[in-house]
Amino acid sequence: MTDQFALTADQLAIQDMARKFTADRITPFAAEWDEKSHYPVDVWKAAGELGFGAIYVSEASGGIGLGRLEAALIMEAMAYGCPATSAYISIHNMAAWMIDTYGSADLKERFLPDLVSMDRIASYCLTEPGSGSDAAALKTSARLDGDHYVLNGTKQFISGAGYNDVYVCMVRTGEHKSGGITCLVVEKGTWPVVRRAGKEAGLERQPDRAGDFRGLPRAGGQPRRRGGRRLPLRHGRARWRAAQHRRLLAGRGTALP
Ligand SMILES: Cc1cc2nc3c(=O)[nH]c(=O)nc-3n(C[C@H](O)[C@H](O)[C@H](O)COP(=O)(O)OP(=O)(O)OC[C@H]3O[C@@H](n4cnc5c(N)ncnc54)[C@H](O)[C@@H]3O)c2cc1C
Repeated sequence: MTDQFALTADQLAIQDMARKFTADRITPFAAEWDEKSHYPVDVWKAAGELGFGAIYVSEASGGIGLGRLEAALIMEAMAYGCPATSAYISIHNMAAWMIDTYGSADLKERFLPDLVSMDRIASYCLTEPGSGSDAAALKTSARLDGDHYVLNGTKQFISGAGYNDVYVCMVRTGEHKSGGITCLVVEKGTWPVVRRAGKEAGLERQPDRAGDFRGLPRAGGQPRRRGGRRLPLRHGRARWRAAQHRRLLAGRGTALP
């Protein structure tokens, strides 16, 4: 029997930490959260303290700089207690990673510290009523108007929509299918309508919603910057310390708040 697929000592420690976190902070409460449609913000923050909000965000940006395998181990452990919680945190990590990998220095500085700590939670907005698997068929458009974008369209099945603070949105800025898509970061309060999109078995508590960007008012007290900020495809170098990583590997992070 080969051990080429065996987990390393660090990976086992990470898995163990995620299991303990799940057993202490998630499993005992998951059924009640489901029943009451409770969104456990305090649990996100506790997860953020362990580095679980930025698992594969670089250490230079304050993340713990691990890989997708470590992320999968953490998500698997959390899903044992609550699939919805695991899915939220997984999506948040994906959105934070996108900002870290493709965002400008300005964008990273503005959003990443709070996403890393999970003081703010991010959603990922790709799916639309008319485009699921065929993501390149998306229709939500973004038009540059001065220093901001004006969005027009509808997103669907967006986990955490209405609750979360930051929305990483795929939008159409050009005609060519996948070549005409741009990624914008949209902040809560700059999009107008959210409504319940439907229920999914086993993920009842996950507030998937549709975000309607149509008919954005241009006046009447609405903030002018109601669109999003573009993610230029270049790296900046914000220098935040990666204390979580050291804590995680030293095992001190298991002391849960
Ligand atoms: C709980 C939940 C949370 C979600 N959260 C988010 C989120 O946060 N952000 C977000 O953007 N989206 C989210 N989604 C949407 C999810 O990503 C989409 O459901 C997914 O992209 C599939 O799209 P669809 O449902 O429109 O199915 P469709 O694309 O219509 O596919 C229907 C079926 O046809 C099959 N199919 C499609 N195309 C082909 C093909 N070419 N050949 C063979 N078979 C094919 C598919 O495999 C599937 O079985 C969420 C969905 C759920 C259920």
